[in-house]
Amino acid sequence: MILVWHRADLRTHDHPALANAAARGQCLPCFVLDPRLLSTPYTGNNRIQWLYACLAALSESYRALGSSLVLVAGRPEQELLRLARETGAKAVYALRSYEPIGVARDARVKAALEAAGIELKFFAGDCILEPGSVLSGSGTHYKVFTPFWRTWSSLPMSEIQPTPKHLEPHAVPSLELPKISALLPLPEAGEHAAMQRLEQFIRRVGLHYETQRDLPSIEGTSRLSLDLHLGTISPRVAASRASQAGMTAWVRELCWRDFYRHILLAEPRLENEAFKSEWNTFPWREDALDLDAWRTGNTGYPIVDAGMRQLSSTGWMHNRVRMIVASFLCKHLLISWQSGEAHFNQLLLDGDLSSNNGGWQWSAGCGVDAAPYFRVFNPVTQGQKFDSSAEYIKRYIPELEGLPNNEAHQPWTGLRPPKSYPAPILPLTLGRDRFLETAKQHLKASNPENLLP
Ligand SMILES: Cc1cc2nc3c(=O)[nH]c(=O)nc-3n(C[C@H](O)[C@H](O)[C@H](O)COP(=O)(O)OP(=O)(O)OC[C@H]3O[C@@H](n4cnc5c(N)ncnc54)[C@H](O)[C@@H]3O)c2cc1C
Repeated sequence: MILVWHRADLRTHDHPALANAAARGQCLPCFVLDPRLLSTPYTGNNRIQWLYACLAALSESYRALGSSLVLVAGRPEQELLRLARETGAKAVYALRSYEPIGVARDARVKAALEAAGIELKFFAGDCILEPGSVLSGSGTHYKVFTPFWRTWSSLPMSEIQPTPKHLEPHAVPSLELPKISALLPLPEAGEHAAMQRLEQFIRRVGLHYETQRDLPSIEGTSRLSLDLHLGTISPRVAASRASQAGMTAWVRELCWRDFYRHILLAEPRLENEAFKSEWNTFPWREDALDLDAWRTGNTGYPIVDAGMRQLSSTGWMHNRVRMIVASFLCKHLLISWQSGEAHFNQLLLDGDLSSNNGGWQWSAGCGVDAAPYFRVFNPVTQGQKFDSSAEYIKRYIPELEGLPNNEAHQPWTGLRPPKSYPAPILPLTLGRDRFLETAKQHLKASNPENLLP
């Protein structure tokens, strides 16, 4: 008997740990609800709700194969040992995880199991290419995306693993999934729904991805981040289907996901620190009122507020708008990227340490291959450019209904600005100049050699 320990890989397709265990004989699929993991700052209630929905779907997948998922609760190092002893399992197979918290947990579990003579074996499957396998000519990890992408796309992907046709039933009891009141309307969970989303996206958007991906009012992206986050779709299956359909631009986005995972494994300090160390002492402002206006979508800048309200009402936000709201927080409001990162983590259904941390550091200008710090998005012109019909902002800000499109992006310029919608939190030029001046002074003081524009 081999235990197959699921974590952020809630699928039965292209699952090398399951495929290898099934090929060796009887296996027992299990998931450990770890109270410590469920209560970290990275795990908001939205994500717990999505996790439970995906676990229920994984149970169904196993039932269809003749087996069932065993759910236990407690510390993985204790629960897996107990399960292994009770079932006589000699090994535990899992997909390798790369985030610092997962790496530390896996080391603890390995020590506990091996002390009892039980093997813990990891397989690659969370990324398209295994972190550590995409190296520059000098054998080091990449810190810039474009050369990473060039090497990444030249390397072969390992073979997609077959789903077992049938698994032996077992009689090990399982906990019921805890009840949690539904906070958000969720998309259908699980690997079958994820695969359908992928196929529909390829049919619906396909080669138009590059022209549609920046328009938040339409479904121009895949919305597969939720599935990739909990592994209800294999990233290799997604990449290989998209490559067959000629969707290189979309595969490049999947490569960004790999890139941030590769970086975080190589530099775990990024969980708590800026990649560019001079930003660790940056004089960010602490302003609870401004932070709250941003969080609740009440800054008076429609594209920012629409994004923040999309996040709180759906648990997801369009990528272009993520970049705009992040730039607005760090630059116009001069509030730290960590405050924004933590808020996203609380609310995003796809909240993912490496991509979220990478996205925030990129937006603030302090990350690996980040946007230059002096590039400050203007939320009005960004809104006019990417939501010219004002459809997106009006969907999330009903107060703007009835305003002409251009005026909806800057309601304070109209003759009768809507009374129920706030006036701008600060003039854009004031925020921009304050940020640029603070950044120039700080970077110069940290290192007089710094190149300033
Ligand atoms: C400030 C900020 C925070 C972010 N936080 C997260 C997060 O917590 N979790 C998350 O999955 N993504 C995050 N992203 C990246 C990106 O916004 C989302 O992956 C994307 O919006 C998800 O929608 P989609 O699945 O329709 O994307 P698509 O456009 O269909 O892209 C396909 C997949 O590629 C990957 N991807 C696309 N863009 C990026 C990117 N810039 N970085 C890393 N992977 C990418 C995702 O897995 C995505 O599902 C963040 C970006 C920013 C700017």
